[in-house]
Amino acid sequence: MESHPLVKNNGLAPLHVRATRTRISALGWDAIAVPNHPYHFPLRLGPENPTVKVLLDETQLQAGVVRMASEVSAHYGNDPLTIVGVLTGSVVLLADLIRQLEMPLRVGVLQASSYRGATTRGAITINSDLLLDVKDRDVLLVDDIFDTGHTLAEVIPLLKKMGAKSVKAAVLLRKQGRQEVEIEPEFIGFDIPDEFVVGYGLDYQDQYRNLRYLASLEPTDLIDDTIGEDA
Ligand code: 5GP
Ligand code: MG
Repeated sequence: MESHPLVKNNGLAPLHVRATRTRISALGWDAIAVPNHPYHFPLRLGPENPTVKVLLDETQLQAGVVRMASEVSAHYGNDPLTIVGVLTGSVVLLADLIRQLEMPLRVGVLQASSYRGATTRGAITINSDLLLDVKDRDVLLVDDIFDTGHTLAEVIPLLKKMGAKSVKAAVLLRKQGRQEVEIEPEFIGFDIPDEFVVGYGLDYQDQYRNLRYLASLEPTDLIDDTIGEDA
C-alpha cells in the first residue's frame, strides 16, 4: 500500500490501495467486457490493466461527508435550508449529506450536462424543470466534483436569477489544478489529484456510480477520448 501525496483527506491517513482484478471479477464485471458491443463494459480488463486504484475508501468518504455536514451546520445553524443537488453525480453525496443535517430542509434537483471528452468539453445544458421554488431561500448547491468549475459558475447565477436569497456550494471533490473560473465552493470534502475518478455517484460512460469507494481510472482505462454525456 503506497500513499498518494496529493490526496488531502483531512486528518485521515491517505489511502492508495490497489484492488486486484479478482475483486472486479468477483463483482462479475468482466463478464460483460465485450469490445464494440453497445453495452460493452468501459473498463478494459486483461493483463494490460489488472488494477483499479482506490483513492478514497468508504470510511474515508463517510468521514469527509460528516465533516462537511458539520461545517454546513456550523454555517447555517438552525435556519431553514434548501439543498439543490446537481444530477446525476451528486445523488450519493446528496443522500448521505442530508441525513447528517438537522436543520429544517427542503431538497430539490436540477440537471447539468455537457458533452465532454477527456480533454474537451462542450456547452453546459441546465434542466431546472424539476427544481422546487428557490425564491427568498438560502440555497446550498451540492455537486460531486469541482473540476473546471464551469458547471457551478453557470448554475449559481441561475439560482440567484430565480430569486434565491443566498447560494453557496458544497462539493465532495475538488480536482487540483483544473479550475478555469473565479468562484470556489464554500464546502469541500477532499482535494484530489487531476485524475479521472469514478464511484460514489461519479460515472464513466454511465457505469460505476454504485461503487462504495472512489476509484481513479488510468488514462489507459479510458477506451477513447469520449467520456460521454456528463450529467
Ligand atoms: P466542471 O464543470 O467543474 O468542469 O465539471 C463538473 C462535472 O464534470 C462534474 O459534476 C462531473 O459530472 C464531471 N466530472 C469532472 N471530473 C470528473 C471525473 O473525474 N470523473 C467523473 N466521473 N466526472 C467528472
Ligand atoms: Mg455532474
